[in-house]
Amino acid sequence: MQLLVILGGGESGVGTAILGQQKGYDVFVSDFGKIKDNYKEVLTNNGIDWEEESHSENKILNADVVMKSPGIPDKSPIVKKILEKKIPVISEIEFVAPFTKAKTIGITGSNGKTTTTMLTYHILKSAGLNVGLAGNIGKSFAWQVAQEQFDYYVLELSSFQLDGVFKYKPDIAILTNISPDHLDRYDYKYENYIASKFRITMNQTENDYLIYDADDEAISEWLKKNTTKAQLIPFSVNRKLEKGAYLNNNKMEVNINEEEFIMETEYIALEGKHNMKNAMAATSVAKLLHIRKETIRESLSNFQGVEHRLEKVLKIQNVQYINDSKATNVNAAFFALDSMNVPTVWIVGGVDKGNDYSELMALVHEKVKAIICLGVDNKKIIDAFGNVVDVMIEVDSMNDAVKMAQRIAEKGDAVLLSPACASFDLFENYEDRGRQFKEAVRNL
Ligand code: ADP
Repeated sequence: MQLLVILGGGESGVGTAILGQQKGYDVFVSDFGKIKDNYKEVLTNNGIDWEEESHSENKILNADVVMKSPGIPDKSPIVKKILEKKIPVISEIEFVAPFTKAKTIGITGSNGKTTTTMLTYHILKSAGLNVGLAGNIGKSFAWQVAQEQFDYYVLELSSFQLDGVFKYKPDIAILTNISPDHLDRYDYKYENYIASKFRITMNQTENDYLIYDADDEAISEWLKKNTTKAQLIPFSVNRKLEKGAYLNNNKMEVNINEEEFIMETEYIALEGKHNMKNAMAATSVAKLLHIRKETIRESLSNFQGVEHRLEKVLKIQNVQYINDSKATNVNAAFFALDSMNVPTVWIVGGVDKGNDYSELMALVHEKVKAIICLGVDNKKIIDAFGNVVDVMIEVDSMNDAVKMAQRIAEKGDAVLLSPACASFDLFENYEDRGRQFKEAVRNL
């Protein structure tokens, strides 16, 4: 019996344990932290061996294969030891993919993964396809494959998951965009992070597709210097393309399979240029799968959006409050500001991840009437925009931020929370930050 060791007893770890056991592996789950009670129960009930708050090397280093949760860096001592022994360390997707015949649509990128994944899933499901949703979202891929078989899976894939991919290939890949993020896990080398994202296409063949943002510099540069066997399907908001998807004035045009799909953007529920990109990527998948135009049209117009991503909260005295708490980097905040078409009070700040604010300068100048800094790393924001906006205020709590924003905003303005920073200074995570914002708005 082969020994499968799983590092990390979270959603993907426990799912992989169940599937591994079902496929005849001897399974051991090891977590250096605590494992949640409900997961412990599942493991115990299935007779799967596990440990928490330690890593038993004598057992772990005997593994035939190790599945590592994406949160554990390669530099952690236990992983280093495993790699020294030349034991393969793979990700959940890599382990699970051989056990399903389903076609997979793998979605990665620095921003827009969740939105594009949810939208793609929504269209496929509306078309009546037998489709599952997994990856970074909801129930783990492994668990779903262990329980039932879908014909398709839409998978949100982070760069950390792709780092553990060696053979897996998606039938259709989407690369939404690339901008610097998580560089601490990539030796502070942007090229390493870019290479990690492109692992999504490295095993693709001539029958597979890579849908990508043709406006993205890092992606275009990579494609000039490297090759992929996949058929390329670009999308652009800046220029007309022979094949692929683009914006033509107020219309989205998608030209795939000899057949054009055209939709006026005003009928697309998502707003903002970045979301048009996400819509083009999802529509490209739908066209490749020959989904009816009517279904695509309907799905694009009734998609509810995803919480914490340019989510409209409330309009109070004709001021629109918008929660974009998931904007944890500058690029995401860029597109949020870009999508604003009224004077904006911008709540920004948190834990700086090596941010370069210069690319926001023109947008702030054009759209932002006041900045409210909420976070530990305000200095860089103040230095960057102090001379650009009339009002610059520092606060220490979400309540104060929202109250202050209300005082400044006038009829017709918007208040936008789009922090461009991580949330761990004042909040548990970005969801907590977004919820506190919504709560504060509702209390106004
Ligand atoms: P991810 O899962 O990659 O983090 P999300 O869909 O959760 O992406 O969106 C994260 C943030 O990025 C949100 O603030 C959202 O408004 C913004 N965003 C969404 N799509 C894009 C895109 N295509 N380009 C840039 N920013 C985007």
